[in-house]
Amino acid sequence: MTIGILALQGAFAEHGYILDKLGVDHFEIRQKKDLERSFDGLILPGGESTVMGKLLDELGMFESIRKKIQAGMPVFGTCAGLILLAKEVEEEPSWLATMSIRVKRNAYGRQLGSFYTQQEFKGVGIIPMSFIRAPYIENVYDDTEILAQVDGKIVAARQKNQLVTAFHPEVTDNLEVHRYFLDIIE
Ligand code: GLN
Repeated sequence: MTIGILALQGAFAEHGYILDKLGVDHFEIRQKKDLERSFDGLILPGGESTVMGKLLDELGMFESIRKKIQAGMPVFGTCAGLILLAKEVEEEPSWLATMSIRVKRNAYGRQLGSFYTQQEFKGVGIIPMSFIRAPYIENVYDDTEILAQVDGKIVAARQKNQLVTAFHPEVTDNLEVHRYFLDIIE
């Protein structure tokens, strides 16, 4: 199994460290031709969704990523990656728009956007959750399933091949959300 990690900007290296711990092959996707390599799952990391979205556009990578996801490629979006996947972003245009969620960016306010907590993740148990200027999911629709909530706000969800978290599992020692993603691939 090989995972491609979008590496245009943001916290992509951290996902690589987690996959190393899990013994899973991975490589960085930095330009359009990297998308021609064969891979079984895609990670869209945290960072700044507007910057990542614009780079994807400038590098001509949008359509090919969207088509792969629509064709069933398992994808895991953390934080900004979640925003890139959302069909609806409050008061802003959407990007890949493949997942039936409505998202609010910087939803906890700019000052209070970074915090740590521990909460239940469906099917996994209680896990550490680190939020960094995080969005939350205002609502899910179609066949999107809610996987975790913090203080009544949705912070993780899945729609078939698409998994998203508003928090950053890659900055904690906990490997469970990545394992969950590998299970989707298998
Ligand atoms: N605030 C960022 C955005 O709106 C997301 C933050 C993150 O990925 N840690 O894109």
